[in-house]
Amino acid sequence: RTVYLNGDYMPETEATVSIFDRGFVMGDAVYEVTCVLDGRLTEFDGHMARLARSLKELEIPCDISRDEWLEIHRKLIELNGLQEGGIYLQISRGDVGDRDFHYPPAGTPPTVVLYTQSRPGLSTDPKADEGIKVISVPDLRWHRRDIKTVQLLYASMAKMAAEKEGKDDAWFVEDGFVTEGSSNNCYIVKNGKIITRQLSNDILHGITRSSVLKMAQEAQMEIEERPFTIAEAQAADEAFFTSASAFVMPIVEVDGVAVGSGKPGSVAKRLREIYISESLKSAI
Ligand code: PMP
Repeated sequence: RTVYLNGDYMPETEATVSIFDRGFVMGDAVYEVTCVLDGRLTEFDGHMARLARSLKELEIPCDISRDEWLEIHRKLIELNGLQEGGIYLQISRGDVGDRDFHYPPAGTPPTVVLYTQSRPGLSTDPKADEGIKVISVPDLRWHRRDIKTVQLLYASMAKMAAEKEGKDDAWFVEDGFVTEGSSNNCYIVKNGKIITRQLSNDILHGITRSSVLKMAQEAQMEIEERPFTIAEAQAADEAFFTSASAFVMPIVEVDGVAVGSGKPGSVAKRLREIYISESLKSAI
């Protein structure tokens, strides 16, 4: 692969960063993953807007403009012949020379890394026809989940716990209510109504969530933004999650209990179709 590091394109084997990089030492970095379909970027502006917000919240300086980001993304797609997959982008507070809790002095350049991840068949994933199974785990993450940081250890542990039980993913539960999935936003459907947790610092503001809710609204579907419990999910007609890399994914089991018929629901299937076709139409 040809990757991008701090202004240069190079083979991945040559792209190295300092052992003093704050991303490495303190998990002091933010990221985005933008999906590529048909060699084009989906939801590009949404991801760049969220990136700018994450940087601002953490006071990480980075003066790369939206148009420059676009150029870098497109160049990586071209250099790597990427058709379907994603582009990973990470910005850390940079190489600070030594380990120190204090932020480095103004003018310390951030470390900027981008690379492609090829995932052929992403839009035709057979998992979407079967639906996936989730377990629930307590949400032990920090309370600024609206900032997309690379501090993903707990999400990683949750996914491993799910795998250990032969399931596909984990839902986080806090104060009795589902916050979100390990790397996605989650939804249930009851009597035709789509229920999903409202935006706050408790969850990541999914770019896919925002588009899918808009499309659902345009399709005259009823939406209620509020927290829901595991018991409610188990008694729901259907469940699903959304994320940039899996679009709309039906969920057919929660903590060992089948949701609805135990098969992907019609609302999830319909939203998946709409979302993928609209994403292809608006990709840049
Ligand atoms: N929540 C979490 C914790 C995530 O990691 C992700 C994936 N980025 C999402 C939600 C979904 O966000 P998006 O639709 O922007 O991919």
